[in-house]
Amino acid sequence: MRNVIIIGSGPAGYTAAIYAARANLKPVLIASSVEAGGELMNTTEVENFPGFPQGIQGPDLMFKMQEQAERFGTEVILDDVTEVSLDGPVKTVTTGYSGTLEARSVIFATGSAYRKLGLADEERLSGRGISWCATCDGFFFKEKTIAVVGGGDSAMEEATFLTRFASKVYVIHRKDSLRASKIMQERAFQNEKIEFLWNNEVVGINGDNAVESVTLRNTVDGSEQVLPLGGLFVAIGNDPRVHLVHQQLELTSDGVIAVDGRSSRTSLAGVFAAGDVIDPHYRQAITAAASGTVAALDMESYLAELEQAEAHLDAPADHEAEAEAEAVESASARAAASASEAATVGA
Ligand SMILES: Cc1cc2nc3c(=O)[nH]c(=O)nc-3n(C[C@H](O)[C@H](O)[C@H](O)COP(=O)(O)OP(=O)(O)OC[C@H]3O[C@@H](n4cnc5c(N)ncnc54)[C@H](O)[C@@H]3O)c2cc1C
Repeated sequence: MRNVIIIGSGPAGYTAAIYAARANLKPVLIASSVEAGGELMNTTEVENFPGFPQGIQGPDLMFKMQEQAERFGTEVILDDVTEVSLDGPVKTVTTGYSGTLEARSVIFATGSAYRKLGLADEERLSGRGISWCATCDGFFFKEKTIAVVGGGDSAMEEATFLTRFASKVYVIHRKDSLRASKIMQERAFQNEKIEFLWNNEVVGINGDNAVESVTLRNTVDGSEQVLPLGGLFVAIGNDPRVHLVHQQLELTSDGVIAVDGRSSRTSLAGVFAAGDVIDPHYRQAITAAASGTVAALDMESYLAELEQAEAHLDAPADHEAEAEAEAVESASARAAASASEAATVGA
């Protein structure tokens, strides 16, 4: 049986693996068959991860994390977890191709997925003008005309934040009113750089190597127009990847895995969670990495406690053995004494 299985290969999973491997726990990390490396595989320049003053390409950062985790003995399996059973002291993790693995503990680091528009050129232009994260990419859009798609709180937050960099920010929303809270709406309405395009949806993203414009369709009269843009931020929601555990672990009202305070402990003993799958708010590579550290340290304490408890349970048997050894010793001493007594009498 393994000590720990880590599910997910983003910054949270690899950081948990680095700590667990350096603690000599020989972790297994199941990385996904086609999406190994997590969300940063979908981006180009990462400029806010400490340690890289000139920035680093997202995939390069993730390959470095994998290399570091493997250097200390992490076994990385390129496979998908299809089922888990988390109750009780032995956890089982079933994968698509590598069979079922057993472990004393599991760390979930399955991340979350930004909702996409579902348009043909969205993947191709991801990181080339299309972004899902203003905190991550806003800096690249200085003095550009850009747009945010969405009508909720995060769309208003992103649009307002982006006005620090962009010369103009359109908010494209398919209805004529917003879902966002009153205060977020007011803040956006008062910002002179923001213009609302009501009753519009994006039906095409245009550009050869980078976003040059979007095609909008009016949801009321069906008319179409092309809007020239230097960037497009999609803020239509985020889905934590919890489908494996939603019947087994407690979730919060935001739909992320619930953990105990600042720890990574979930509602089941021996099951830990880290990164974007527990985080409805910050969702950054560095916060995910830090959260992976917390999970590894919590998991180490759990295994140490488990070992202690097992040793305690074994203790009566040890006493018995000791008592037996003592009994054997005193029996032989008595035998020796009577043998010597017999020898003295016989002499
Ligand atoms: C386009 C883009 C650009 C970004 N740019 C930046 C940036 O510049 N700076 C920054 O700090 N943050 C950035 N972010 C945010 C950052 O990528 C995330 O916050 C971070 O990756 C979260 O890490 P994580 O380990 O929690 O999850 P993820 O990176 O999402 O990794 C989770 C992994 O788990 C795997 N997984 C899920 N389910 C299973 C399963 N059943 N079996 C096996 N594997 C599974 C997934 O395939 C994935 O590989 C960006 C995000 C996006 C989308």
